[in-house]
Amino acid sequence: MTAKILDGKKIAAEIRASVKGETLLLKERGIVPGLAVVLVGDNPASKVYVGQKEKGCLEAGFASFLHRLPGGTSQKDLLDLIGKLNADPLVHGILVQLPLPDQIDEEKVIAAIKPEKDVDGFSPVNMGRLVAGMSAIEPCTPKGIMRLLEASRIELAGKEAVVIGRSNIVGKPVALMLLARSATVTVCHSRTRDLAEHTKRADILVAAVGRPRFVTADMVKDGVVVIDVGINRLEEGLVGDVDFEGVSEKASWITPVPGGVGPMTIAMLLENTLEQAKLSGEGRS
Ligand code: NAD
Repeated sequence: MTAKILDGKKIAAEIRASVKGETLLLKERGIVPGLAVVLVGDNPASKVYVGQKEKGCLEAGFASFLHRLPGGTSQKDLLDLIGKLNADPLVHGILVQLPLPDQIDEEKVIAAIKPEKDVDGFSPVNMGRLVAGMSAIEPCTPKGIMRLLEASRIELAGKEAVVIGRSNIVGKPVALMLLARSATVTVCHSRTRDLAEHTKRADILVAAVGRPRFVTADMVKDGVVVIDVGINRLEEGLVGDVDFEGVSEKASWITPVPGGVGPMTIAMLLENTLEQAKLSGEGRS
């Protein structure tokens, strides 16, 4: 079997075009979706991600407010900025690029973002709502994964879904979202015994580990749907957590890296921000 490609680049482009169209309509009502991105220090990967987010905003017709703060910024100064952005009616979404420098407590900063501006979906309120099955601003990467599955009409109810990784950013929330769609979900992590025994059962396999080509063909069954979240920078370029060459011979669907989950993450960030701008126009906020 040679897998069909879950084309994140194409699906994300369609979503971005729709966001752009809705933004034009919203502008006629005097609302310009505004995203504030806060970057502390100069982590090279963070700079790349922030650049992509800013570009996405500008293409969609959003107002982009980029705050670059020096690496030595104090927690108090960062919390003061979050307070100002929380109160600013032109800002509908606030994204603090992680990781933050050591002197700053990430949890405190994330918790300080007003839940209705938390377009990354990492705040305790949005995470709690997700766990409870209530409407929430959903974190962008797992939301993007679910959209990719939906766009390709991949059935989830009753299926065995195996997630490798339990981070708050990807593994944990995607497991909850798969559960909400009635998959039978197993979450594997660094202490899982005999990982392959789990992955071989998977109808849907999500790899969010951060290790190049970690999932190999002998770890999966024929017909599996594979979502590769990993972004590993090697000298030869970007590679995922899945050995694409081998695994795509057995999978029915697979995401490429790059061009799979990555573009969906940005598209979901734009969609989350647009959604909050719309709600603010309806008098909430
Ligand atoms: P993380 O480091 O927070 O989590 C990695 C997880 O992998 C942990 O839960 C750990 O328990 C698990 N793990 C580590 N070694 C393991 C092993 N030997 N067996 C089983 N599980 C193991 O990483 P993260 O933030 O969840 O990101 C994971 C990957 O996804 C990274 O490559 C990251 O760059 C990428 N990522 C991509 C996007 C995107 O938009 N495409 C977004 C976020 C993260």
